[in-house]
Amino acid sequence: MPNGGVAYFSAEFGIDESLPIYSGGLGILAGDHIKAAADLNIPLTGVGILYGKGYFQQRINESGWQQHLYPEVDLEASAYPVRLARDAEDRPVVIRVTLAGRQVHAKAYTVQMGTVTLYLLNTDMDDNGDEDRRLTDTLYPSDPDVRIRQELLLGIGGARLLVALGIQPDVWHLNEGHSAFLALERIRMLSAEGVPFETALEAVKASTVFTTHTPVPAGHDVFSVEMMDRYFGDYYWQLGTDRERVLSLGRLGGAFNMTRLAVSTSSKVNGVSKLHGEVTRDLFHGWTPHIPRQDIPVDSVTNGIHIGTWLAPGIKALYDRHLPSDWAVRTAERDIWTAVRDIPAKELWEAHQQAKSDMAEELGLPIASSGEGPLVIGFARRFATYKRALLIFRDLERLERILRDPNRPVSLVFAGKAHPADGPGQELIRRLVELSREERFKGRVHIVENYAMDKAKKLVQGVDVWLNTPVKPMEASGTSGQKAAMNGVLNCSVLDGWWVEGYNGRNGWAIEGATDVDAEHQARQDSEALYRLLEDEIVPLFYRRDDRAIPTEWVGMMKESICTLAPVYNTHRMVSDYWHKVYVPASARGNRFAADDFEVASRVAAYKQFVRDHWPAVRVRKVEILADHSSRIGLSKTAFRAEIQLGAIWHKDVRVEAVGSDGKQGIWRAKLEQVQQQAKGVYVYEGVSPDIPSHVWRSNVNVRVTPVSPDFASDFEMELAAWG
Ligand SMILES: *Cc1c(COP(=O)(O)O)cnc(C)c1O
Repeated sequence: MPNGGVAYFSAEFGIDESLPIYSGGLGILAGDHIKAAADLNIPLTGVGILYGKGYFQQRINESGWQQHLYPEVDLEASAYPVRLARDAEDRPVVIRVTLAGRQVHAKAYTVQMGTVTLYLLNTDMDDNGDEDRRLTDTLYPSDPDVRIRQELLLGIGGARLLVALGIQPDVWHLNEGHSAFLALERIRMLSAEGVPFETALEAVKASTVFTTHTPVPAGHDVFSVEMMDRYFGDYYWQLGTDRERVLSLGRLGGAFNMTRLAVSTSSKVNGVSKLHGEVTRDLFHGWTPHIPRQDIPVDSVTNGIHIGTWLAPGIKALYDRHLPSDWAVRTAERDIWTAVRDIPAKELWEAHQQAKSDMAEELGLPIASSGEGPLVIGFARRFATYKRALLIFRDLERLERILRDPNRPVSLVFAGKAHPADGPGQELIRRLVELSREERFKGRVHIVENYAMDKAKKLVQGVDVWLNTPVKPMEASGTSGQKAAMNGVLNCSVLDGWWVEGYNGRNGWAIEGATDVDAEHQARQDSEALYRLLEDEIVPLFYRRDDRAIPTEWVGMMKESICTLAPVYNTHRMVSDYWHKVYVPASARGNRFAADDFEVASRVAAYKQFVRDHWPAVRVRKVEILADHSSRIGLSKTAFRAEIQLGAIWHKDVRVEAVGSDGKQGIWRAKLEQVQQQAKGVYVYEGVSPDIPSHVWRSNVNVRVTPVSPDFASDFEMELAAWG
């Protein structure tokens, strides 16, 4: 990349337990992303916030209620040195942002991970009033005013910080929508140099990419227009356009939506698993109903985890012994992992027992080690209600029978925090505590307080089975199960997120319950499926031992799990996917749009303006079916002719297609060619459908016109389509 590589913005970074500036999977992913970029020598700079008190520390009181503790983060204790960023003259780098009329100062800290620098902004400075000093105290405040100010600091302040440091990124990567204000700041900077707004927008968009993580609208940050006016009242005009145009970039349902802003200002959007890509297309289709969900330009890059961070020492030693010596830098190659199949079952089993007893000791769990049982099932993650921590407790008698079988005992270990504002999540914890105290579950159900990276490491390394029971499709990806898999821990999960891709029928278990029904019914079906798996498969397999007391079939499954999952669900694979699919194309695009005084950006802006102005006149005037002939038994092809009114728009600037249902979930498209000009601005197009099941095509065929350009990132970049 010619200039400054990739700037990676995230509201949270989980790089080590000693720096508690993350709340869950999003932050861990960001931390693992930058670690992998460092391993792979990818030019990347991280930008985030140093929260003075971090995410809260969890205590659970006698009645089972979560308590929130906010000790100051001890920077001296961080495993990665945290230093003040300094400029060439060795002065601390300080940036300023205006928040509702007040100048707020922020200093920056650096955390170095190999070649990658992570910059973290913090406002706790003498130059600020008390309220502003506290702005960066805690992560994900519930007060929307504090939240928007943090996001202004991250997006606008982060962009200013990079300028102050002399870093000129080729690609700006938004890890979730929290940082999307950075696009406005970049436009403002260009506008100050005299670049017109629409040109600046195109240039910014070309070099911005967005990873969305939240499959439900309720998870997106939304600010009222009044709030936007409060914070941007004196800023809109600095972008070289009017308030309405700026608001239009994020306007959705009467408010300002950060996901919408991120989409409007990015040239590439991706979800974090294949299924999540589809779910996101559905969600965005709701915003632009005239574009079929299949055509919504959202790609996916499935999450992974940083193996070096999450592997148990004993398992790592085993891989060092049995895998090719350079395995740690070639983790994304399948061949590297086939050697796992030849590890003697005894060695793998013993390494796992070691991790299990380390976990028990470290977390104070009364679990006998050295293969004597019990089978330990782990469930640890944020206690968001959609994750259904209590699903396994739906039938208490049945669970009791499973856990208390004297010959084949089973233990459950739970850990997780609920967001301080999430009452229902906290109620789940309280109920869990209550259940764990029932006589029948005593000694069988354990709760580990204050879930964070240190606890997560021990759990994903030391349990036998990793359980995940979200409401499908709410788990965008999930990553804790990937950490477990690398350690030889077997996944038992609803087929959601990454597990739909990872599961192959032999490398763990799928809880195949119900989807698309009411929550109660789904929970009943899912828990029933889970109990059946435990009773019929998981527990019997775990206790089926050979004469050395080794569960050889179980160990065989551990190997299958490692061999098939480790090469794919790691961040080396993930970051190289980002490199090839996202960063390299966006870098080329961004530089092309900016070259020669923004020539391409300004051409695209003018073209879009022209199309937007004349689009209302575009019409599909007539659609005729010319011939309907069977091409093979049960299949037919159909020829179409359509009369299209384009007005002032050139016929080469549109794509005309017949679009129909394929009778399953998908659609077919047939490009029609211009065969004749009928009058000024009116054209005749013709074309033939692909082979379609005869009974299907008639149901629903339409002709659509969309504006296209070789300079668009996708045919639906303008979100325009005329149908007839
Ligand atoms: C990996 C990890 C997560 C993510 O968990 P999922 O529910 O699988 O997404 C959350 N919190 C911590 C501390 C983690 O280490």
